[in-house]
Amino acid sequence: MATVAVLSPSTTPPDYFRIVSPTLKVPSEKSTSIPVGLLAAQRDPLLREIETTVVACNISQPSPAPVGKKTKKAVSAPTLPNEPILEVILHDTVIFPEGGGQPTDTGLIKTSDGRIWSVLQAKRHGGHAVHYVKTGSEADVQSALTVFAAGSIVTASLGKEDFDRRYDHMSMHTSQHLLSALLETRLNLPTLSWSLTSFPSPCYVEVPRGMTVEEIVLIQTEANRLVFEGRRVHTEVEELDRDKNGRSVGKALPSDYTGGVNRVVVIDGVDRNPCCGTHLPSIHNLQLFLLPHTDSMSRSNTTSARLYFLSGPRLIDYLSSTHNFLANTSSILSCGAPLVPERVSQVVEERKKADKRVTDLELELAKHISTALISEAAVGSGNDGYIFKKHVHRTDDGGNPLGFLSAISFAFSDQIANTPYLLILTSTPSAQTTTSTTVVMVVGSDDNLVKSTGEALKSQMAVKGGGKGLKWSGKYNGVWKFGNAVDTLLKSIE
Ligand SMILES: [Zn+2]
Repeated sequence: MATVAVLSPSTTPPDYFRIVSPTLKVPSEKSTSIPVGLLAAQRDPLLREIETTVVACNISQPSPAPVGKKTKKAVSAPTLPNEPILEVILHDTVIFPEGGGQPTDTGLIKTSDGRIWSVLQAKRHGGHAVHYVKTGSEADVQSALTVFAAGSIVTASLGKEDFDRRYDHMSMHTSQHLLSALLETRLNLPTLSWSLTSFPSPCYVEVPRGMTVEEIVLIQTEANRLVFEGRRVHTEVEELDRDKNGRSVGKALPSDYTGGVNRVVVIDGVDRNPCCGTHLPSIHNLQLFLLPHTDSMSRSNTTSARLYFLSGPRLIDYLSSTHNFLANTSSILSCGAPLVPERVSQVVEERKKADKRVTDLELELAKHISTALISEAAVGSGNDGYIFKKHVHRTDDGGNPLGFLSAISFAFSDQIANTPYLLILTSTPSAQTTTSTTVVMVVGSDDNLVKSTGEALKSQMAVKGGGKGLKWSGKYNGVWKFGNAVDTLLKSIE
C-alpha cells in the first residue's frame, strides 16, 4: 500500500474559492460534515491532503439493486469487493464524491494508529460525502470501528495514482465547460449531455446536429486562443436558491441534493456554469484537441451528434499511442511515416489482385481434379449396378477450404453425365491440433445415398453437419484420423 508522503502545499490561488453571499460560511464545527459544494476538494482542487475529524462511521449495508432501467455510467466507479466496507463521513475531505458528470475519486485515509486505509469510492448522500473504506477482514472491521470512532483525527489524502486520476478528470471536465461555452456562444449549439469516459478514451459532448470540419476547427482555434491566454477559473458559492438559472448541461441540480449550496464555476470572460465538479484554477494547460468529425446519433425522433475531445494527460497519451501506431506501421512497411497511407493502399491493391489470382487458379485446379475423376469414373461405367465411389482428400491451409471442395464438386457434376456416383471430399490443414477444423463434403447422384453417407459420417466419426438433396457438408474439430475409416465407409455403401 502506498504511503502518504509529505506533500508540498497546494498551488491553487487563494481567490479560486469565493463566497459571494454575506451570510454563507464554511462550517468549522468539527462534529459536523461540510456539505458537498464547500468541500476542500472543491475549495482547493490541487490540495492532496487534509487533517480532519471523523463525524460518523458505519458498516456498509449493500444497497438493493435499483429498480427499473439500468443507467449507463460513463466511468464506472471502482467496484466494491465482497467484504465488509465502512461508510465514513468526515468533517472535510480532499476526496471528491461523484457528481456533475465527474466520477468519484479514489483516495487514502490515515488513522491515528498509523494505518492507511483505501477509499474505494466517495458518494454524495443527500448533501454529504460518504467515503467507502476497504477493511480487508472481520478483525479489521473491529479495529477500524475503533480508529474511525466519531471525533477521531484522521488524514484524508490523494496518493499519486489517485491524484493522477483526479487530474485527468479535472482536465477533461474543465475542458468540457470551455468547449460547451464556445459551442453555445459561437455556433448557438447547446450541449445536450456530455460523458467523461474512462481514461484514455476521448470524452464527448452531445449537440443537436452534426458539425462541419470548418466549424470544428473554428471552435478548436478559439478554445486554444483562450488556453494560450491562460484564462483563469474560479468558483462562486452562495446559499441555494433553486429558482436561479445558469447554463447547465443536460440536467439541473440533482433533486436529492440537500447541501444548501449553489456553486458556479467561472472561466474568466468565457463561461459561468452551475457545477459541483472539481475544476483546474486555470485553463493554461488545457490544449484542446477536437476529433475532426461528429458521430450522428439517431434516436426515435431526434438526431443529435457527438463531438469528441481530448486535453491534458489524455491528449499526451493519445499522441503517444497514435505516434507508436504510425511508427510501428511505417517500420513494417519500411517507409517513412508520410508514405504510410500510399504504401498501405498499394498493399491492399496487391492483396486484392493476389486473391483474385488464387480464386482463378483454384477454379482451374478444381476442373483438372474433376477431369481426372471423370476418367476414373469412365472405367467401370456401363456395368450393371455400377456406382463410382471415391474419397478425395486434400491438405489445404487456405482461408476457404470448403469453397474449394465445392468448386471440385460443381466441376465434377457438370461433366459426369449419366454415371451414378458418390464422392466424399475432405480437407485438413497441414499442421493439425486439437482446435483445427477438417471440412467434409458428400455429393452424389442419389439423394438417399448422400443422406445415409452423411448420417454415417455423423455417427461413426462425430462429424457435425447436414445437407439437402444431392449435397451434404460438415466439419470435424480436432486431429483428423479417419482417412481409412472414410474409405471403409464408402466401400460398405451399396
Ligand atoms: Zn461541470
